[in-house]
Amino acid sequence: MSVFTSLTNWDLGFQTRPFLISGPCGAETHEQVLKTAIQLKSKGVHLFRAGIWKPRTRPGSFEGMGEEALKWLQEVKQETGIPVTVEVASPTHIELALKYNVDVLWLGARTTVNPFLVQELASSLKGVNIPVMIKNPVNPDLALWIGAIERISKAGIEKIAAIHRGFSSYENSTYRNKPNWEIPIELRRLLPGIPLICDPSHICGNTFMQQYVAQFALDMQYDGLMIESHYKPAEALSDAKQQFTPDELGDLISSLVVRNATTDDETALSKIEDMRDQIDELDDQIVTLLAERMRVARLIGEYKFHHHIAILQPERWEEIIRTRTINGVDKKLTEEFILTLYTMIHKESIYQQTQQMEAEKKSDTLQQEPNS
Ligand code: PEP
Ligand code: MN
Repeated sequence: MSVFTSLTNWDLGFQTRPFLISGPCGAETHEQVLKTAIQLKSKGVHLFRAGIWKPRTRPGSFEGMGEEALKWLQEVKQETGIPVTVEVASPTHIELALKYNVDVLWLGARTTVNPFLVQELASSLKGVNIPVMIKNPVNPDLALWIGAIERISKAGIEKIAAIHRGFSSYENSTYRNKPNWEIPIELRRLLPGIPLICDPSHICGNTFMQQYVAQFALDMQYDGLMIESHYKPAEALSDAKQQFTPDELGDLISSLVVRNATTDDETALSKIEDMRDQIDELDDQIVTLLAERMRVARLIGEYKFHHHIAILQPERWEEIIRTRTINGVDKKLTEEFILTLYTMIHKESIYQQTQQMEAEKKSDTLQQEPNS
């Protein structure tokens, strides 16, 4: 993987963190684009976003204004001095975006999901020097996200950022797209040089939860935020519920706290060190206890084998979940955490019991046929 330059080296005239991208979901009219951009100027926006070609789930809804809107974005640059970014989903989009001097391109969630398409875009980016931001795929698949980053990187693009916009799921959720924070956090661990931007607008699907998600992202040390804004959100032709007026965006941004990665206060550092030692010790105990629990599970496996009892006992599983949740919630753990934790423990326990049963079966067969 090549060395990725940090966002501050993108030559877009900013040095601050968080890097702030804002603008409407879609460019709808000349007036909407220009008024929104002019109002955003005083809010510290570093990059103006607007969808020119809108990937819509169902046909018949607003699909973007195409090439005409690229001219409005050129005016935005002239009027405000803010660089601009658009979503590209085909080689033709790239060609047009370059023709109108768009500063940064982004790949949407429905593009990242398709390696054929990403490869086509990567091929048409060969020899082009433009930053590219890559949204996570719609489904929670880290490998696909990394694959798209690699394809674009291999085309010679050095300025690459990842945008976390959440993952769609069929279950009911308070989020429009579930954040699954562990996925971007793992992306960051695997590709530490890639700036990570959070898109609270598409994660939340409404305005009232975005402050919380944006703050959380900053506390996870994200480099930037992409938040949708519109001079008249209620009249937006797409994603009306999740767009802020530029004034509301300004309030949201000023309410955010940017915490430092570390401190030079020696006392605080040594206190943190002490607490980390405690955590190391506790983790050691957790693993020892889990191993002990699995040893007992194997004993049960052996016992079940000799008494012809099935491994999975649904009532017992129900009972475990019920009692552990009550206990956990009582001790200030969340229900979701207990459920996830015990689903993992139960899975491992079944695996260990199955292995034990297989081993018992083998040794029984050997005893029955000593000469075979
Ligand atoms: C958008 O940014 O407006 C958009 C279409 O986003 P996504 O690809 O995350 O759905
Ligand atoms: Mn949108």
